[in-house]
Amino acid sequence: MSKHPETQAVVAGRPEVAPDAGLNPPLVLTSTFHAGGPIGYGRYGNQTWTALEEAISALEGGATLAFSSGMAAISAVFSILPIGAPVVASNQGYSGVMTLLNSFHASGRLEVRFVDIVDTQSVINAMKGAALVWIESPTNPCLDVAELVPLIAAAKKLGIGIAVDNTFATPLVQNPLELGADIVMHSVTKFLSGHSDVLMGSLSTNDPALLKRLQDSRSFNGSIPGPFESWLALRGLRTFPLRFNKSQESAKILVSKLTAHPKITRVRYPGFGAILSFEVDGTAEQTQQVCESSRLIAHATSLGGVESLWERRRRWPMESASVPEQLIRLSVGCEHVDDIWNDINSALASI
Ligand SMILES: *Cc1c(COP(=O)(O)O)cnc(C)c1O
Repeated sequence: MSKHPETQAVVAGRPEVAPDAGLNPPLVLTSTFHAGGPIGYGRYGNQTWTALEEAISALEGGATLAFSSGMAAISAVFSILPIGAPVVASNQGYSGVMTLLNSFHASGRLEVRFVDIVDTQSVINAMKGAALVWIESPTNPCLDVAELVPLIAAAKKLGIGIAVDNTFATPLVQNPLELGADIVMHSVTKFLSGHSDVLMGSLSTNDPALLKRLQDSRSFNGSIPGPFESWLALRGLRTFPLRFNKSQESAKILVSKLTAHPKITRVRYPGFGAILSFEVDGTAEQTQQVCESSRLIAHATSLGGVESLWERRRRWPMESASVPEQLIRLSVGCEHVDDIWNDINSALASI
């Protein structure tokens, strides 16, 4: 029987048991290796990356490649598509991906068919002749949820590649490879590493030929992670299920409290996970003031760490105009939920 994810997170990616072997993988700080082995040079591999990759694979399935950031992992996927390849992607999602796809579309690098990801039939209709379907679910920051089962089935039937950004849901909520997806991507920066101290990304796949192409992309574009970052990410991953479950529990409590708050007009929460977005009954400036008035929740971008963070997403000029000016995205951390709620409550009282 395969082990539970809580167990996998603890046991995966460890050195083999032998007298005086370390419990933890060593931090291998080297740019090159003595000749004769399968790695050879530090851009092609590193034992510390491998340990992290094994641990992510134990949770997501398949084989995993670690990258220098989530965006580096995403860029590797797009880099193996031919010039002008048709790609189906959501019309809203993580701003970095939207910026990249818009620029690829404008330059002709890719032909991006932007779709409403919750409208399953329209996504399927857009698939004909496409090279790849790129799905982020739930989306950042509007928390729309795509129907992965029929979308993956439709892509498979048409012989189209399908990749899922699983950063928000994490393998504790959904396993896209098990559903038949070709690639699962993570911003390891977020929940998997969980301490707001590294930027990293990953791609996992069951297809050895695809793995090789993605690995070549990493090797020759040089989008490799640092060994120290990999070591930190693996250390963080040991407690990922504990942190995620705790934050999710708190997020559910906060959702019900926010929904009842008179200064909140809308709360978005997919029913799982530790990220929620809500809209303030006020102006963009007042919403900004709420974010700046917190004393516990850090006013900062990013998510998935032990520290609660929030921000008004539209403070970023590159954020999509479809995201409301009054929307605050909150990443619920591991502090006591009463302390988080008291902080939200007093910040809302400032307007
Ligand atoms: C943060 C994020 C990314 C980008 O990852 P980086 O590690 O910041 O490069 C991609 N997708 C989602 C959903 C994210 O939240």
